[in-house]
Amino acid sequence: MNLTLNNGVEMPALGFGVFQTPPGETVEAVRTALSTGYRLIDTAAAYGNEREVGEAIIRSGLPREDVFIETKVWISDFGYDQTLHAFDKSAGKLGVDRIDLFILHQALPGRFELTREAYRALETLLADGKVRAIGVSNFMPDHLDALLEKATVVPAVNQVEVHPYFTQPDVRAADEARGIVTQAWSPIGGITSYRGTGTSTFDDPAIGEIAAAHGKTPAQVMIRWHLQEGRSAIPKSVRAERIVENFDVFDFELTDDQIAVLEGLDTGVRGGPEPADVTLETFGRDIPEA
Ligand code: NDP
Repeated sequence: MNLTLNNGVEMPALGFGVFQTPPGETVEAVRTALSTGYRLIDTAAAYGNEREVGEAIIRSGLPREDVFIETKVWISDFGYDQTLHAFDKSAGKLGVDRIDLFILHQALPGRFELTREAYRALETLLADGKVRAIGVSNFMPDHLDALLEKATVVPAVNQVEVHPYFTQPDVRAADEARGIVTQAWSPIGGITSYRGTGTSTFDDPAIGEIAAAHGKTPAQVMIRWHLQEGRSAIPKSVRAERIVENFDVFDFELTDDQIAVLEGLDTGVRGGPEPADVTLETFGRDIPEA
């Protein structure tokens, strides 16, 4: 199942994430994902595993053009020249000439001029054919507005936290109104589990009930919800059986009532960092050369 981005590029809706996947486990996880059928891999300069993602793709034997590679520029590399160089670092580690989707990992709300310069570099990379699409992550509607005051290219994708406990209807609507695909990070609510604060989405009784009704798992129900609503989703796992489970979502359909139940679970509590509070001082860190 593909989504057509606002520049006509086709992107698989369901991808595979590697945040917190240790480099030593990344090759095997990504190879398992590719042999399962995933064709979109989401990594980031800040994850420290781009090299292993690239190696897994080469070792899979798949033609390069069959795999959609997405990676992110960290805030410490924001600035026009710095972000152009961030492309060289990421492409070098991935071992590719061209990245399919290159996105800004966060806005720097207190240094928005730097955010704009970073995005201007993405526009140059797009014009030069070094990337096939560009986008953003963790951009709230006011960040999109500020970016679009000057940008010439509307981001193709905004990757944001979306799971049943934090559904971000305002961000989703803002994306949709601008022709931006919303891509859900922590799509199965992993952050409600690994942060260990209260009930996780995996143990939610309402999600469990919907899963039982379809003979599916809670993770499969959550992934299906994203796909039916036109979002991209990039679940992560290092376990082969879960990598397979999370891709086995194309043989059932949620009803409108079940979707309404999932939407109704929103707690309004964000798992990730508050985007407005991200600064170089608190989150900056050096991204090594390729
Ligand atoms: P997910 O919602 O994908 O959940 C992953 C967690 O759930 C892991 O702890 C995993 O453990 C576990 N898990 C995976 N599958 C199942 C299953 N079927 N049943 C039960 N547990 C399961 O959370 P992430 O936060 O990892 O988000 C996914 C991806 O989104 C990231 O890998 C990254 O690519 C991206 N991301 C982007 C961010 C951004 O700021 N742009 C922030 C966070 C994530 P195990 O591996 O042991 O199976």
